[in-house]
Amino acid sequence: MRPEILFPLFAPVTSLPGAGPKLAEMLERLAGPRAIDLLWHLPCGVIDRRPTRNVTAARAGAVATLIVRVGRHQPPLTPRQPYRVFCGDDSGSLVLVFFHARGDYLSRILPVGSERIVSGTVDLFADSLQMTHPDFILDLGERDRLGAFEPVYPLTAGLNPRTLGKLMAAVLARAPDLPEWHDAALRERRGWPSWRQAVEQAHHPADAAAVLPDAPARTRLAYDELLANQLALALIRAHGRRGPGRVIAGAGTLGGKALAALGFRLTGSQQRAIAEIAADMAAPKRMLRLLQGDVGSGKTVVALVAMLNAAECGFQAAMMAPTEVLARQHYATIAPVAEAAGTEVALLTGRDKGPGRGELLARLASGALPLVVGTHALFQEGVVFRDLALAVIDEQHRFGVHQRLELSGKGQATDVLVMTATPIPRTLMLTAYGDMEASSLTEKPPGRRPIDTRAVPAERLDEVIAALRRRLAEGAKAFWVCPLVEDSAQLDVAAAETRFTELRQVFGDAVGLMHGRMKGEDKDRVMAAFASGPVRLLVATTVIEVGVDVPDATVMVIEHAERFGLAQLHQLRGRVGRGEKPSVCILLHSPPLSANARARLAIMRETEDGFRIAEEDLRLRGAGEVLGTRQSGMPTFRLADIARHRELLDVARDDVRLILGSDPGLESERGRALRTLLYLFERDLAVKYLRSG
Ligand code: ADP
Ligand code: MG
Repeated sequence: MRPEILFPLFAPVTSLPGAGPKLAEMLERLAGPRAIDLLWHLPCGVIDRRPTRNVTAARAGAVATLIVRVGRHQPPLTPRQPYRVFCGDDSGSLVLVFFHARGDYLSRILPVGSERIVSGTVDLFADSLQMTHPDFILDLGERDRLGAFEPVYPLTAGLNPRTLGKLMAAVLARAPDLPEWHDAALRERRGWPSWRQAVEQAHHPADAAAVLPDAPARTRLAYDELLANQLALALIRAHGRRGPGRVIAGAGTLGGKALAALGFRLTGSQQRAIAEIAADMAAPKRMLRLLQGDVGSGKTVVALVAMLNAAECGFQAAMMAPTEVLARQHYATIAPVAEAAGTEVALLTGRDKGPGRGELLARLASGALPLVVGTHALFQEGVVFRDLALAVIDEQHRFGVHQRLELSGKGQATDVLVMTATPIPRTLMLTAYGDMEASSLTEKPPGRRPIDTRAVPAERLDEVIAALRRRLAEGAKAFWVCPLVEDSAQLDVAAAETRFTELRQVFGDAVGLMHGRMKGEDKDRVMAAFASGPVRLLVATTVIEVGVDVPDATVMVIEHAERFGLAQLHQLRGRVGRGEKPSVCILLHSPPLSANARARLAIMRETEDGFRIAEEDLRLRGAGEVLGTRQSGMPTFRLADIARHRELLDVARDDVRLILGSDPGLESERGRALRTLLYLFERDLAVKYLRSG
């Protein structure tokens, strides 16, 4: 349970003074529904409100803060003219300009002959210096209301910065003094303020540098968040590995038979991965290992060998895929090979209802069925394994930590192997998995040809279609990918449907359509027709990104390639180039291209190395955007910027090792403070695992 000291911060924004439902809606859009979401909403800049020497020293285009004597008022003659108030000091004159102003109000706040502090952006208009709608007009006695540097917050439509400023003050007033969770020596070395001081300083920047990511307060808050992330992952992981694992050490007989049936030689990195996994499984600890490798690098075989190892020792193994299509595909690949090795595999998805399901569940429960492939249906209630020794999770970033654990919870001492298809930069791996062992498939299976990648302007669509016509006439199969339209799945589908209709007019029945809104059976039918039937050109939304395997497809056309991120382009391109025939990838793009989009297309033309592309992606997009974090199960950070706070992540990882090495139950004084930190960043699950002993 969240400690009481944090309650005020986790209260809804409507508990703040003046925040009615309408304002709350805006705040929710901007930052989130609770006070703490505002606390984490940090300024993105500052306005320098320090006093300007005098009127002549004010620079056009910049903010000036001046003490002026108010002179003549000049009300407008027509409604379109502004109201002018002539002011000045000994050095020169300044005209205050107001549109649609009320004269009585202006006479009251700017009485003729008075002295006022005015602050706002100054402009030069017909040789006279003017300030249109000053941000502040204050009596000399109100000088204190103007800080030297005013925070500038990211806003949302309709939200007034003053309103937000007042709310921020109320939120800050609620921020309690929290016990220090950081190591005193680290804090001292880095010159970090306390947590309370840090939030204060972050919201009241003392100068322009204070809003930069390397300012002490910002760094401390970023480190708080990263430490919470690393600590939570480590605790969850420790929980997952608690208790002894089992020793699974088959002689490799079944695996050997399967490989013989496959008829190819493993690459060096496949062999290495198989050996690493076998060693983990043989050790009396629970395995938690990541198997990462580019699309087409041959992860499935590696996983299958591990599953057969479990079967050989009399245990069960399960492979879970993120989508129905993928689960069926894995099943189709694995079943014949496993059977060649004399082992049975079943498929279990949410769609398989019917009488067969009951029998299947019974055989899983009795242990008669050694291997199963499925979707998340595998860890729903009612699915009981007799003895699940290995869970393989092909996650392609779609599952969260939580689900990973749920599946492993199905077995007593289940080993877990997580497969991911996008090579993840090491930094991001740390944030998503913590300090986790990994096997990497760095080479492609032999015989793969490089993919001829070209960037083609969309206006040359006709040429692309003509080339496609030649290719299809030669018997090729092609993908045609339509992008997300403005984040709307509906428009997304509409665009694909339109393109499908157009291409159908050219290529007739050889064109198929697949999108995320289609029913599972319909998707299967289209996939089957593309894999081995009449469909030779598959128009699709990005649903095909997730691992669809049609090895003899050799053409990939991506529309509006400029809208995709690098990781996504790489995934999509990986759908071709899997067979022996040369493949081509056409990146259609429409001007104007941003510098960033141009760089992405250039990198795609330059390399097929997924690890390199992942690094470039991180560099180009910075931080949290990589891998399309939100839908993906990769964590997003509010305060840390992974690209800029990289170094802190390593510090956090080492810190966590030390912490848990000396105080695994977080019982010491610092340990208790760290519990508060976990709650502050909503890692409640991790604390729960701690408590449950
Ligand atoms: P991934 O899951 O990593 O994207 P797959 O496991 O689906 O890749 O493998 C892609 C294709 O390459 C499959 O058709 C597989 O049979 C084949 N393959 C895997 N390993 C090898 C190898 N060592 N030599 C030749 N082909 C291989
Ligand atoms: Mg795969």
